Amino acid sequence: MAAKIIKGIDIREEILSDIRKEVQEIKAEYGLVPGLTTILVGDNPASLSYVTLKVETANSLGFKEVQDSQPTDISEEDLLSLIAKYNNDPTIHGILVQLPLPEHIDEKKVLYAIDPDKDVDGFHPINIGRLMLGGSEVKFPPCTPAGIQEMIIRAGVNTDGAEVVVVGRSNIVGKPIANMLLQKDPHANATVTVVHTHTKDLASHCRRADILIVAAGVPGLVSPEWIKPGACVIDVGVNRVGEKISEKTGKKVAVLRGDVDFEEARKIAGAITPVPGGVGPMTITMLMKNTLNSLKYRLGIMQA
Ligand code: NAD
Repeated sequence: MAAKIIKGIDIREEILSDIRKEVQEIKAEYGLVPGLTTILVGDNPASLSYVTLKVETANSLGFKEVQDSQPTDISEEDLLSLIAKYNNDPTIHGILVQLPLPEHIDEKKVLYAIDPDKDVDGFHPINIGRLMLGGSEVKFPPCTPAGIQEMIIRAGVNTDGAEVVVVGRSNIVGKPIANMLLQKDPHANATVTVVHTHTKDLASHCRRADILIVAAGVPGLVSPEWIKPGACVIDVGVNRVGEKISEKTGKKVAVLRGDVDFEEARKIAGAITPVPGGVGPMTITMLMKNTLNSLKYRLGIMQA
């Protein structure tokens, strides 16, 4: 039987519509809206397009959005002062610094300067620690892993007691999603294995996965024979493998491919995410959800 395709684009619309509604309700009751600032240093075209998408999404939800663009040669000191300004601004509930930063700026120093209670990306060590503790300690789950978990839930895939194999151990995807799915929680409770470049037999681990999450950044790394029949496959990989002319716009666009051979894998898997249109759209969506939640924590209508 052909796999169910888990469409991030559709799930995104459902979640954004819920957020939009909640923003209206909070605005009516408290006269406040979620405030998000996105700080972009320099003019890296990929960073600019990510930031533009975040700004457009935030505006479409009725957030207060402050896009703060800074020149490439901004000093580290000035950038830290800017973060301090937003840390102290009561109308801002989320601060996002678009990475990568220019070489003369210490990325860690900048990210760690963000108030953990406004760290909607969830990268601050305090929020990573909260994630590790799990349950009600978690304030801002990192956006891509949060999107992955949401997709698994909405696809109706049972995680309780499931064998989960995560390919990749990065701080932004592999490690946090592994940690989230092993928590004692109805949407987790899985037995999790993390595999990486030093793993001896990658295929044998993948073959026993009820849920296979692949975040390696290697196009087509997972071949169809590695997939257990009926498994849920979440392909996080976004790899540019070429260029083409868009039928819609007539402009040159990147050809994207995941870490899984989608066309073959869908014949074996029970459920699978496509690339593009799978995990990708979920990341910004969860960023918006974290920003809304930040305001809710501030108002005391949500606890963490
Ligand atoms: P990363 O390079 O930081 O980490 C990749 C991990 O995969 C490493 O831990 C490495 O050990 C492992 N790995 C690499 N090659 C491997 C191999 N041949 N066998 C086994 N393990 C291998 O990458 P990342 O930031 O975690 O991103 C991974 C992929 O996910 C990339 O394609 C990235 O573009 C994509 N991504 C997508 C989103 C999204 O929103 N859709 C968000 C973040 C990352």
